[in-house]
Amino acid sequence: MGVRSEYIWFDGQLVPYADAKVHVLTHTLHYGLGVFEGIRAYAQPDGAAGVWRLKEHLQRFLDSIRMCHMPTCPHSLDDLMAAVAETLRANKMTEGYIRPLAFLGDGAMGLGARNNPLHVVIAVWEWGSYLGDDGVAHGVRVKTSTMVRHHPNATLQRAKVVGHYVNNILARYEANDDGYDEAIMLDHQGHVAEGTGENLFIVEQNGRVLTPPGINILPGITRQTIIDLCALDGITVVEQLFGRDALYVADEVFMVGTAAEVTPIKSVDRLPITYSPGPFTKRMQTRYDDAIHGRIPEMTKYITVC
Ligand code: PMP
Repeated sequence: MGVRSEYIWFDGQLVPYADAKVHVLTHTLHYGLGVFEGIRAYAQPDGAAGVWRLKEHLQRFLDSIRMCHMPTCPHSLDDLMAAVAETLRANKMTEGYIRPLAFLGDGAMGLGARNNPLHVVIAVWEWGSYLGDDGVAHGVRVKTSTMVRHHPNATLQRAKVVGHYVNNILARYEANDDGYDEAIMLDHQGHVAEGTGENLFIVEQNGRVLTPPGINILPGITRQTIIDLCALDGITVVEQLFGRDALYVADEVFMVGTAAEVTPIKSVDRLPITYSPGPFTKRMQTRYDDAIHGRIPEMTKYITVC
C-alpha cells in the first residue's frame, strides 16, 4: 500500500500527484514549523464516503496554525471541509486516510523569517491497520521509551506540529529496533503520556477506566470518541496521571488514534498484560467500528458525507 493517488489538493487546486512539488528551500523542510492532520474516511451503509469528525480535525488544524504564529490560513473551516470532499471525490475514494498539511514555502531563510507564504495541501491514500492486522486482533508489544515526551513548556502539546514528530520518530525507531511494535512515551516527570501516534487507556483491576489528562499529550479525537462511547454506556473515564507501574498491573491496556483506531496492547516492557484483548477493549473496538461506519445513531452527527 503506497501513498499514491490521482490528485492532491494544493492551495485550492487539484493537481496531478506528480506535479505536487515544492522547492528545496521550503522553510518547513529546514526548521519543521508546519502543521498537519490525520483523518480517516469510511464507507457508510449506503456506500458513500463518510469522514469521521472532520470538523474537529480541521479546527485542530487551524488552531495549530494559529498557535504556531503561522500566517493566517487563507482557507476557512468550511473551505477546508469542501476541499477534503473534493479531494476524495477526485480520487474516487470512499475509504482512506486524509492528510492536510500547512507549511511555510520558500523565500527567506533563518528562524526569524515570517513572510514566507503559507501553503496548504490535502493528500489522500489508502491505509490499512497502522499497527498491523495481527496487532488489532491479538495486541501489540510495547516498551516504555527512553525518549521523553515534550515538556509542556518546550512545545505546544495540543498542536500537531511537523517538527514535534522527531521526538516520536526516535521513540518509534528505538522500540522497533529493540523488537517491539510501538513505544509508550513518559513525560518529563515519569508519568505515562501516550504512544508515538496514539493515546492510551487502561482498565484497572477494580474496573476503573483511566486515560492521561490532556496536559502531557496530544488530546486526540479518537480518545474523545472513546470517552463519548463510554458515556453512552454509562461508563466514566477518569482522566488522571499515572506511572508505568499502573500499566504493568492493569487488566487491559489499549491504544487509540485515527491511524491505529483501537489497538490492544499485549505486553509492556515484556510483562504480559492480563487480558489482551480484554472484554472492555473488544467492546470499544466493536463500538468504534460501529460509530465510524454510521451504525450508532447518537454518533452519526460526527460523520461528514462527501
Ligand atoms: N498522540 C499523538 C502524538 C498523535 O500523533 C496522534 C495522532 N494524531 C494521537 C495521539 C491520536 O490523535 P487522534 O485520535 O486525533 O488521531
